[in-house]
Formats: sequence, structure tokens, C-alpha cells
Amino acid sequence: MAIIFQNARLVNPAQNLDMQGSVKVSRNGTIDTVVFAPETVPTGPDDRLIDMSGRILASGLFDMHCHFREPGQEYKETLETGSRAAVAGGFTGVALMPNTIPVIDGPLGAAYIRHNARDLPIDIEIIPAMTVESRGETLAPFGKLVSYGVKALSDDGRAVPDTKMMRLVFEYAANFDLLLIQHCEDASLSEDGVMNEGPYSAELGLKGIPEAAEIITLSRDLQLMEYLQRHKLNPPVSPPRYHVAHTSTRGSLDLVRQAKAKGLQVTCEVTPHHFTLTDQDLYEAAEKGNYIMKPPLASRENRDAILEALADGTVDAIATDHAPHARHEKECPPDQAAFGIIGLESSVGLTFSELVHTGRISEYRAIELLSSNPRKLMGLPPVLFEPGEAANFTLIDPEEGWTFTEDDIRSKSKNTPFLGRSMKGRVMGIYHKGVLHGLE
Ligand SMILES: [Zn+2]
Repeated sequence: MAIIFQNARLVNPAQNLDMQGSVKVSRNGTIDTVVFAPETVPTGPDDRLIDMSGRILASGLFDMHCHFREPGQEYKETLETGSRAAVAGGFTGVALMPNTIPVIDGPLGAAYIRHNARDLPIDIEIIPAMTVESRGETLAPFGKLVSYGVKALSDDGRAVPDTKMMRLVFEYAANFDLLLIQHCEDASLSEDGVMNEGPYSAELGLKGIPEAAEIITLSRDLQLMEYLQRHKLNPPVSPPRYHVAHTSTRGSLDLVRQAKAKGLQVTCEVTPHHFTLTDQDLYEAAEKGNYIMKPPLASRENRDAILEALADGTVDAIATDHAPHARHEKECPPDQAAFGIIGLESSVGLTFSELVHTGRISEYRAIELLSSNPRKLMGLPPVLFEPGEAANFTLIDPEEGWTFTEDDIRSKSKNTPFLGRSMKGRVMGIYHKGVLHGLE
């Protein structure tokens, strides 16, 4: 059965496309016809017609920062349950961080994930570790990983602590055109901190994480990049590309802005929880476990800096840092809670509620941050709305009001501070790999 998405707002930033139109998808999952208003696609008796009036047919969303916990912590999430969460959240693809048990730091681990992900409804990219077991002591086998189709590396959960090792990472990565994703945290400074260091941590008697912990690591890395670029000590095939994970402070965003102005290949992502919440929300929450994450929820001033950076183009992508944990790991005193929250099912709702409907960014920019930009950063081919291309769509009703509840969660874990939150803008479904999800 062919499917016709009629009268949609077609939004695909990879093609600079934002127009009213209709798309017909053949039964084999490829695009048959694309027409623009006032033209519509003629319907046959066997075609399924989906009226998209007032709705967006976007290029499939891609989340470049997820934790699906397999192998090793399947009680929190598996590749299968994580994929279901992605589908529910409107994502047709995700990239997985390597901090599983064991850490994915070589071809064997990458092969394991790829094999187990082969029949899932979404695309799964693997981001192996930069260093063996993410310990920051020995380089991971970059060359072997690249021959395996790997496009990005990260020791997410921690930064490479040793500066000389980080230099080696930059130099080796440059030879392979890899994206280096750094979780910027100076662990000697953040130590066993629980939340942002400030008046609220003092008030609660919780150990603080200074915002400088993020800024110091980022600033070190940028100094290294500049040094290596200036002195061409190891002439690279292409200059290293560096990406800041879950950027949370004004200082970091300023550094990214300056680095971009200098022509360094630096990009960054922010999470929905960091652009929505502050440490005051943690302070006021009765149950604090689901407000504990790394980097910690920041001060209002830093949150406002994130909103500015989203609007002015400094931020390249929105990523959820989807981090499932079991109830007992979150329903406990805050200084014993595991770090992180789930994010896939609430990402689009928060992006539209907090950014689009507040007038901070356009719907087009939202799709760019959620779809075309992360795909580009990950070195994936663009989604194209053209006949013969594979249909890869996210269907969004930008105006639908809804309340986020546990019924909306497909993840194995329910650790989110957003339960009961009213949102405006909702995912209707996805179309990917020849299957329509969400409009059954
Ligand atoms: Zn991280």
C-alpha cells in the first residue's frame, strides 16, 4: 500500500526546504512523488491518505547522544526498548555512547551492537571510546574502528583527563576524519559533587560541582586544537573536528562562539533538560533524584545563555543524553542518585514548548537542531525529499497540547523530571525503513 502525506508543511533543512506540499511513498519505502502546493498527489483506491494539514513532515530526527545500556545493564534499557523510546519520541536514528559494561572501545564491541541492532526500526550509530575502557590511558584502535564505519569517538561519562593523551587523540583523529565528542568535566574539580555549586547547593547541604569543571576541560582542548593547528606539528589529512557534549554554561558557550569565529572546527550540543530547568527546580522538587545529572542543572544565568546560544546559531544540535536508570537508583537521597535522565520521549515536546512557542527559535531551526545538523555532524548522508530516495520522516503536530505521563514512555526506565508537564507540540509518528509508526 502506498502512503500519501497530503497538505503537509515539508521541512528539510538539508535541502533548505520549507514549503507546503505532499509526498507519496511507495510500498517499498522509497519516495515516489513530491509536489508543492497548490498541487496535490492524486490518490488511487489502494493508497492510504494521511491529511497533514497544519502539521509538519520533517526529515527524520536524529539524536546523537543516547545510552541504551546494552551490553551489561539491560535492567535499565536494551537496544530494543531504547529503540521503542526513540520511535515514540519521533527519532528515526540515534547514536549510542560507549559507556556500557564492557565499554565499547574496539571492533568486537562495535560488531556486537551492530549485529543486535540490525532488525530494529531505527538506525543505530555507534560512538566507541577514544581510549581503552575510557580510562584515558591508551588510545582505542582508531583505524580499525573507522574501517568498521565508525564516524565519531567519545569517552562520554568522563573527559580524557591527561592533556598529553588528549593531544594524541587529536593527532590520531585528524588522520581519520573522526568527530571527537568530549564530555567536558575536570573530575579533579567536580570530584564527588552532586549538583551545581551555588546558593542552592549550599542551602541543601549537597556537594557542589563548580561550573568551571566544564569550562576548564573545554578551554584546555581548544588551546590544544589551536596549538596543533598553528604549528602543524603533525600535518593532518583534515583538521580534527571537536564537539562539546551537553554544553551547560555561559563560559563554555562563549568559548565555542570564539572558537568558531577563529575557524576552529568546533561544534556543540545542548539537552532539553538544560534549556528547560535550573538548579532552582532541583531545589524546589520534593523528589530530587530525577533532577540529578551531569553536567548538573545550571544556574538561571547559564540556562539563559543556552537559550541565547540556541537562538544565535552557536548551538549546533539538540541531543537528549537519554540515560535510563532503574527506580531504586533514582528514588533515593540526591547524593546517592545515579546521574542522568531519559529524554527521547519528551525532546520534541520540550523543544517546541520551550523554544518554538516562546518565539526563541523557528520551527525550521528546531528541525535543523534535531535532524539535519546532528546527521551532518555524525557524517551521515542527508535525508532528501526526492523521488527514489528512502522515505525518512518525522510527523509533528506543532500545535497539539498534551501532558507528558508514564503512558508516553516506552523506555524501560521512567527516570524523568518532566512527568505531569504540559507541553505544546507533539510527535504524531515516524516513517522509516518502509514502516509507518504511531498512526496505526
Ligand atoms: Zn556525558
